[in-house]
Amino acid sequence: MRTFVYDFADGDKDMRDLLGGKGANLAEMTRMGLPVPPGFTITTEACRAYLKLGEAPEGLMDEVAAHLRRVEEAMGRRLGDAADPLLLSVRSGGKFSMPGMMDTILDIGLNDTTVHGLAAAGERFAWDCYRRLIAMYGATVAGVPHDDFERALAERRRTAGVTADSGLGVADLRDLVEEYRFIYLRHTGEPFPQDPRDQLTGAVLAVFRSWNTERAEVYRRAEHIPDDLGTAVNVMAMVYGNRGPSSGTGVAFTRDPATGARGVYGDYLPDAQGEDVVAGVRDTLPLHELAHLDPRSFGELTHAMDLLERRYRDLCDIEFTIEDGRLWLLQTRVGKRTAAAAFTVAAQLVDEGVIDLDEALRRVDGAGLARLMFPRFDLSGGPVPVATGVPASPGAATGRAVFDARRAAAAHGPVVLVREETNPDDLPGMIAARGILTGRGGKTSHAAVVARGMGRACVCGAPVVVDEEHRELRAGDVVVREGDLISVDGATGEIYLGELPVRPSPVAGYFDHGLDAESGPLVTAVHRLVTHADAVRRLEVRANADTPQDAARARRFGAAGIGLCRTEHMFLGERRALVERLIVAEGEQEVEEALDALLPLQRADFIGILTEMDGLPVTIRLLDPPLHEFLPSLEDLLGATSDHERKLLAAVRRLHESNPMLGLRGVRLGLVVPGLFAMQVRAIAEAAAERVRAGGDPRPEIMVPLVGDVRELSAVKAEAERVLAAVKAEAEQVPAGVNAKSGRAPTTTDTEPGLPAGGFPCVPVGTMIEVPRAALTAGEIAGEAEFFSFGTNDLTQMTWGFSRDDVEGTIFPAYMRLGILTASPFETIDRHGVGRLVELAVAEGRAARPDLTTGVCGEHGGDPASVWFFHETDLDYVSCSPFRVPVARLEAGRAAL
Ligand code: PEP
Ligand code: MG
Repeated sequence: MRTFVYDFADGDKDMRDLLGGKGANLAEMTRMGLPVPPGFTITTEACRAYLKLGEAPEGLMDEVAAHLRRVEEAMGRRLGDAADPLLLSVRSGGKFSMPGMMDTILDIGLNDTTVHGLAAAGERFAWDCYRRLIAMYGATVAGVPHDDFERALAERRRTAGVTADSGLGVADLRDLVEEYRFIYLRHTGEPFPQDPRDQLTGAVLAVFRSWNTERAEVYRRAEHIPDDLGTAVNVMAMVYGNRGPSSGTGVAFTRDPATGARGVYGDYLPDAQGEDVVAGVRDTLPLHELAHLDPRSFGELTHAMDLLERRYRDLCDIEFTIEDGRLWLLQTRVGKRTAAAAFTVAAQLVDEGVIDLDEALRRVDGAGLARLMFPRFDLSGGPVPVATGVPASPGAATGRAVFDARRAAAAHGPVVLVREETNPDDLPGMIAARGILTGRGGKTSHAAVVARGMGRACVCGAPVVVDEEHRELRAGDVVVREGDLISVDGATGEIYLGELPVRPSPVAGYFDHGLDAESGPLVTAVHRLVTHADAVRRLEVRANADTPQDAARARRFGAAGIGLCRTEHMFLGERRALVERLIVAEGEQEVEEALDALLPLQRADFIGILTEMDGLPVTIRLLDPPLHEFLPSLEDLLGATSDHERKLLAAVRRLHESNPMLGLRGVRLGLVVPGLFAMQVRAIAEAAAERVRAGGDPRPEIMVPLVGDVRELSAVKAEAERVLAAVKAEAEQVPAGVNAKSGRAPTTTDTEPGLPAGGFPCVPVGTMIEVPRAALTAGEIAGEAEFFSFGTNDLTQMTWGFSRDDVEGTIFPAYMRLGILTASPFETIDRHGVGRLVELAVAEGRAARPDLTTGVCGEHGGDPASVWFFHETDLDYVSCSPFRVPVARLEAGRAAL
């Protein structure tokens, strides 16, 4: 026979699945001998059965009756007793806390008779409890609009000439009870139930049903809580904190939940009930004042706090009530805390010998660390945002709004670049800006990806009109013109007018410079836990970086190399003219000249990055984006007059594509535009030779993007190997003068001193796996590829058929509402679809080439939940933007525990 009801004394803290968090903790406190009012918990299983059957499962209410008798015995009072009635609270409590989302009903057991019995303890108090019961029961159990009760209450206050409920006298409250009963009858067609057992049944079933209210569903979706758990129901004898000056109610924390500091933290409100604290009717007192008001209860409370912290081995929060000088504990749980407190408390508990470093690492997370790494606005002045967009890259930025990237790049002083959306052309402005704000696009839009890479604050897809032509932004009635100061918070998506004070992050400072004399407890805790994560993790963490500055930062932040060096940004700015020359070149001679002009520049780029990453792998991806991205727009060229412009116009027309993301890009570009990839490979190889000559230890790797068939890779690899061998030979043999093999003009390499034989590094050639066909034919591809790097941005785009630049603002919000998606698959890896392709490709790739190196370089590489997946899938590394490297280190450690 199943048991649906557990006495508090029969459960323990590990029974959260069945008793819910609150019920399990009430049971634990009861077992510990702490003063918990007697009561029992109805299981989540009973709730699930009720929601399925639409009625209470058989035997449930008999069990409730049996447990009720035990409560009556323990309290020495009976439910429904006219002289001295037992009253009950009925509270929800699922496995995971869902504060305020489900129902609670207090004072069950009051009716027209028992209210007189309760009045012995205070007449006003008794009538006040009764009118509260009718309103709470009416709204939650019988569906009476809560506002009807509120209106009657307000009217009563008006006629009584008082402003607060506490000003109402006994006669007012009696009259209100009458009115409330009438409202109840009018709405339900039945009188308010007078049988306390009916009240109890009604309340329990209403709490079950409150699992399925819309707000509870929305909350669960946001918090990723499964829908099928159901809630437990806790039935407990009522105790009262509003029985005069020796009563009261409060909340206590065993440590400061904001900072983690040790001490007595919390609030106390004399002569009040819990809901008065929540409603903020009166100012609460700091908890330590209870030491003077009621030293005995205070001593008992602090003793209980100590015991609970030792039992839970963590910061606890406790709700308590003192009734006539007697302390009762109504609830405890491992307390919610800020990210800063999570790190600080975890490290403290290690020092106190309560937990070990593994456990401490389990108790913090990457999302918290990410929050700690970015500067935040000081919102103490209570500013109101003018709009809220997608929080795309955390950070707090204030500056003058500028609606054009060129003007932003040339501006003096801090600016926020405001664009409808960004494209690679906007890069100089994005680099110059403190923050970026767009009216379109989501977390994987160009603006978001680039901003995260650079650690710039970015808000995307804001509900505003960005009028680039008139240089203004409109959010409702508010108009922001170019030059106006605005502030954007990339962690919350909020946009404010004017300048807000900013607090820099000491944690980011630590990752940049290491520990120093100024490092406080938070920074020290972060250092210890990230260091421990490094010691236990199996996944390597690399960074996505394409400038020497980013490479240097990534290295300081703990990256073990570069997993993705995108080369497209290296062809923008002044170099665009050279790319244009290549695109419009006619005949071999012109193509070669254009490539030769790019070669030394590209070589210098790689020397810079290889220098910063000396001794560590640098995976350089050959050019990926469609060529037309480097050309002016059609509109800009319509009035073309010069010969060059006319050629450009023809090229723009020729290269125009309906679906550029599926068009001439990646490896296709390398095969269609002869010499382009060879030039890049030569630049990489010559840069490596140069670094060796300078005494360095360069470790470049060549990565081919967008491969779908092994033959694409074979062709590019064969060419790459020819170029590598040629440069190696040139570097080792130092042929005087012209390089006979390539027929090229002499390069710097040709005239440098020779390398010792074997001095030229081995340069592996591998591929990205970002087209589903590549994953499906991974075994064949691994025959050629020396490494796989999963490009999960494109792999997600092409597996789902979602355009990564368009869906976040349009389809995803609807999909989230409909429960089709719980997280953006561009942010957190879709384990069931894209994830299976990754697993398959790893298995088939390794079967074909056992020493195949595997990594991921899509945005998922820095996402905590995805890092766990890549750990489970046994990849060798994740690669993410430099600012997310510490987060990935921490999560890779946690995943390995
Ligand atoms: C990817 O597709 O995951 C990737 C890293 O490449 P990009 O974002 O540059 O297309
Ligand atoms: Mg890609």
